[in-house]
Amino acid sequence: MQPRHSSGRIALLLHRAVQITMLKTQVNGDRLWQSLMDLARIGATDKGGVRRLALSDLDGEGRALVCRWFREAGLKVTVDRIGNIFAKRDGADPSLPPVVSGSHIDTQPSGGKFDGNYGVMAALEVARTLNETKLRTRAPYEVAIWTNEEGTRFTPVMMGSGVFAGAFELEYALAQQDLDGCSVQDALQRIGYAGDAQVGGRSFGAYYEAHIEQGPVLEDMGHTVGVVTGALGLRWYDLVLTGQDSHAGPTPMRLRKDALLGAARIIEGVNRIALDGQPDARATVGFMQVSSNSLNVVPGTVRMSVDMRHPRDEGLDAMEAALRALADNVATAIGLGAQVTCVTRYAPVRFDAGCVTAVREAARKFGYRHSDIVSGAGHDACYVARVAPTGMIFVPCEGGISHNEIENAKPEDLEAGCNVLLHAVLASAGMAA
Ligand SMILES: [Zn+2]
Repeated sequence: MQPRHSSGRIALLLHRAVQITMLKTQVNGDRLWQSLMDLARIGATDKGGVRRLALSDLDGEGRALVCRWFREAGLKVTVDRIGNIFAKRDGADPSLPPVVSGSHIDTQPSGGKFDGNYGVMAALEVARTLNETKLRTRAPYEVAIWTNEEGTRFTPVMMGSGVFAGAFELEYALAQQDLDGCSVQDALQRIGYAGDAQVGGRSFGAYYEAHIEQGPVLEDMGHTVGVVTGALGLRWYDLVLTGQDSHAGPTPMRLRKDALLGAARIIEGVNRIALDGQPDARATVGFMQVSSNSLNVVPGTVRMSVDMRHPRDEGLDAMEAALRALADNVATAIGLGAQVTCVTRYAPVRFDAGCVTAVREAARKFGYRHSDIVSGAGHDACYVARVAPTGMIFVPCEGGISHNEIENAKPEDLEAGCNVLLHAVLASAGMAA
């Protein structure tokens, strides 16, 4: 005779069954790779990269292909007024805010196949896996494609996610023009992605973005997954040293006001400021204009850039103070004028502790070698983090090279990152028994 189960016991058994299915669930790495390769054909370059500038005809083609895949996966597609695309899979409880994952599919002029595209394809692969395994999440799940992350055709960078997060106004973004005078609004209309949904103003249960690291750290450590805890803050400075142009022959060494000599000491000092702040600090002099820039003239003026990055505001403040002191000391010693102006600043980003833990736990569950990492580059997730609990997953890319046609990543690493994404999404969205 069959034992009679109470409905509570049946519910418990069902819940266990769901948990076991969930524990075993893995994405299809081959399908993920194939989708990346198929998408990379649109705007493919001779050297194996991709050129698909934001809101170009090719971007339109890429969007159309991915939206077709969304619909084939049963997702409901909406487009907002800045052209961000959201593809929704219903959850058991429609009153819950969606758990969202995505990235961008626009590329650099000579970009690679993986930057951004991986985050969107991984998020789509999560939806396909949920469909295949018939897993039902409690919260809805959405895949997002953010408009114009790269910012090469239209500035500012991370435009779609920036407007979504309220970093800048919609009207301002729509009015931005490319070098030919074409506005974002016109470009959106041309390719058919000037949507009518309101930009932002709704909450996410969580946002996850998978991305190639774009740096060499994971590869160097032999790790498969980076648990991204936040992103470096950034400050850019214009530094002008003013001395005096004078003849290289008649002017004795002790009577010179050599601005380039000052610049040399500042480059060395800027490097030292970063070295003194290891492992967090980064500082770079990447641009310089020398005047008169003539073989036999003591240089009278140098204009240079300083790029400083640190994961904490206090760190950036300390670096800025050190830079100003350095410029003063160098200028006094050589008899120069020194002017330091901060021209751009982004505050450091700290991702949500719950999302970071979900990513770390998922990596642990699969036994992937992983470590905490801070993003050195900006991502859509950095803006989304202002309005939603956010986490990121990094996977290694070959030689740490990105924004380059030779950008490359291993299928097994991409699959691992996608498995981590799947389980982080499940942890946040919850399972319907
Ligand atoms: Zn990117």
